[in-house]
Amino acid sequence: MDLNKLTVLETFEGLRDKKFSSEEITKSCLKQIESFNGQIKAFITINEDGAILQAKAVDKKIKNKSPLSPLAGIPVAVKDLFCTKDLRSTAASKILENYIPPYDATVVEKIRTGDGVIIGKANLDEFGMGNSGEKSGFFPTHNPWDLERVPGGSSSGSAAATASDMCIYALGTDTGGSIRQPASFCNVTGLKVSYGRVSRYGVMAMTSSLDTIGPITKNVADAAFVLQQIAGYDKKDSTTPAEKVDDYLKEIKKDVKGLKIGLPKEYFIEGLDEEVRNVVLAAAKKFEDMGAEVVDVSLPHTDLAVAVYYIICPSEVSSNMARYDGIRYGLSKRDGKDLLDIYLNTKSSGFGDEVKRRIMIGTYALSAGYYDAYYKKAMQVRTLVKQDFDKTFSDVDVILTPVSPALAWKMGENMSDPLKEYLADVFTIPASLAGICGLAIPAGLVGGLPVGVQLLGKRFDEKTILRAGYQYQLATDWHQQKPNIK
Ligand code: GLN
Repeated sequence: MDLNKLTVLETFEGLRDKKFSSEEITKSCLKQIESFNGQIKAFITINEDGAILQAKAVDKKIKNKSPLSPLAGIPVAVKDLFCTKDLRSTAASKILENYIPPYDATVVEKIRTGDGVIIGKANLDEFGMGNSGEKSGFFPTHNPWDLERVPGGSSSGSAAATASDMCIYALGTDTGGSIRQPASFCNVTGLKVSYGRVSRYGVMAMTSSLDTIGPITKNVADAAFVLQQIAGYDKKDSTTPAEKVDDYLKEIKKDVKGLKIGLPKEYFIEGLDEEVRNVVLAAAKKFEDMGAEVVDVSLPHTDLAVAVYYIICPSEVSSNMARYDGIRYGLSKRDGKDLLDIYLNTKSSGFGDEVKRRIMIGTYALSAGYYDAYYKKAMQVRTLVKQDFDKTFSDVDVILTPVSPALAWKMGENMSDPLKEYLADVFTIPASLAGICGLAIPAGLVGGLPVGVQLLGKRFDEKTILRAGYQYQLATDWHQQKPNIK
């Protein structure tokens, strides 16, 4: 078997049992990247030398019988939104094209001090703004299942690299769906954690009140294993509470008998692809067969979520993007006559259209005369969306929904219609606004294209959605289907 096809847990065990070395598995991933990255374009930077060096160091430790961290020696693709010390971190933006951070994001530091092997920096929609992978400032990523189609986004490269076995697992960010939706389009497992569960320190901020960090993996057990290593309090991120981190690998082993799963009627609306609907209903049926109880529920403010998101997100974007001013980081256009020219020229040439669009919308929404009408109103409706979930979770343990209303679309199809693209996130955005957790898992193939389903859980109740997802994967083999790349 090709080593690059292994899961995190298989790699972990294999390294310990000395079935192979970290150098071997790292080279196997690098070989896969060499063969297929040309067509899939999952990576912005390939960390070939650094990865091999790190792998050799782990192998030495194994030889010397030194204690090993759980993620030691395992190749990971990191979304290029994470700061990696001494390794270029671009946010897929021309404004940071040559930016080399002087420090590691907390999650990266955890991986690096645990001897994890960073195989490369994965492509994304610029700063995380997008859901197709086409809004990278450099080049679009292609879906390994059909190169003419989008892989989803914004964690496009992370999902495509995992699906095509260029890495053993990946890290992404999810602000409004950016882990769940590409996971669904690429047939991999994607975990959006509860807001605050994983430190955001050192990950370039897009929408600070919504951004979360999580794993993209080949199965749920791997997601549980990786989450265990990256979750928890961080003194550098005041939004990470000292909430206890569960023993996820232990929790997922419990069966789903008696688990109460809600199907919200607002997620089965007009515009939902008929075949996607069937996949979700089949998954619900499967859960019933496994002993869960499936009931109808209602989340009445669902249809307001996208509108709310597109006030809050651009508002926070307009503030977060202000720091890329040509003085402190990255690109600097100094040929103008004064300071204002530096700002204008740097931002005009450094940011892509979508980033500029959001800066303009956000600046408008936050301006003195409009703040109450837009931002404040959006925050109030956000509370209503959250209350919908609170109420529903007093009755059910998990909510089951589609991830995306449609299959992965053809590249270019939505590029000229941002509104259409925004609407494609209707089923992932509500959970983001509520700060709860969500898991996307493969649940079917339609015309050769993957369809995922979403399991939503209470804030900090990752263990229950992971358990439901893990048990589902024990009973099905959708997650084992691989794209036929050649
Ligand atoms: N697609 C959404 C957007 O464009 C969500 C992106 C994300 O989760 N980072 O903002």
